[in-house]
Amino acid sequence: MLKAENLYFSYKTPVIEDVSLALEKGSLSVLIGPNGSGKSTLMKMLASLLVPNKGKIFLQNKLFKDISRREIAQQIAYVAQETKVEFPLSAFEFVLQGRFAYGQGFGFEQEKDLELAKKMMRLTFTDDFFNRQINALSGGERQRVFLARALAQDPKLLLLDEPTANLDISHQVTTFKLLKELTHQENLTVLLITHELNLTAEFADKIFLLKNGKLFSQGSPKEVLVQSSLEKVFETNLLVDNNPKSNSPRVTVVGHNY
Ligand code: ADP
Ligand code: MG
Repeated sequence: MLKAENLYFSYKTPVIEDVSLALEKGSLSVLIGPNGSGKSTLMKMLASLLVPNKGKIFLQNKLFKDISRREIAQQIAYVAQETKVEFPLSAFEFVLQGRFAYGQGFGFEQEKDLELAKKMMRLTFTDDFFNRQINALSGGERQRVFLARALAQDPKLLLLDEPTANLDISHQVTTFKLLKELTHQENLTVLLITHELNLTAEFADKIFLLKNGKLFSQGSPKEVLVQSSLEKVFETNLLVDNNPKSNSPRVTVVGHNY
């Protein structure tokens, strides 16, 4: 679905160095790494919001720079880490905005657009705050409304920067489950950033582990969530064993230096 080759990016100092990755169609990929390792910067390049200093990005084998902004907007939905809104919109109006990537303006939405927006609010459990002002919602509620809007865009590729950061454990699980289902059922391709290593272990098809702007490792949960790697990258004393219920890797902090 998407392929990046040898990406470099600097603000003033280098932030991303020689990163190459591929997102398979219909898969759930997760980007993990410490604060400041360059996850958001990398995702912004994949969302076509930042242009790499060096390297190439292909969307379905076409170079980004040869694709129109409109086509990119129809294929890729991106939700940023910060979810503040300037305008006083209701949650439903905000989700409906996701349909505008298809060309028509506000007030020109059709029945199909309204139905899709409502469906995505149901799937993200946000229909309870249908008419609420978006800025009057809690951080976690607003985050789910942002996800509903991105889904209403009906993208082929969904890029989510820490979509579960403010969610309680139940909404974290339902969000990961929903995304996983959409990859299977709708052939949606998802890349998300999270610090939830155990949810990643349970749901990710592929993990990219970033350290200081470079890919430290990539692969399946069992390949990437390895105790020695995680201890090195996060500089923390950890225990990685197998979850006896799911047999996925399980990451636990160790509070004392045993
Ligand atoms: P992460 O998402 O992994 O926490 P970021 O990609 O946000 O990391 O940031 C990577 C590095 O780039 C950090 O050192 C951060 O301070 C820096 N950085 C991020 N955005 C900017 C910016 N707009 N201008 C200058 N430096 C930035
Ligand atoms: Mg970030």
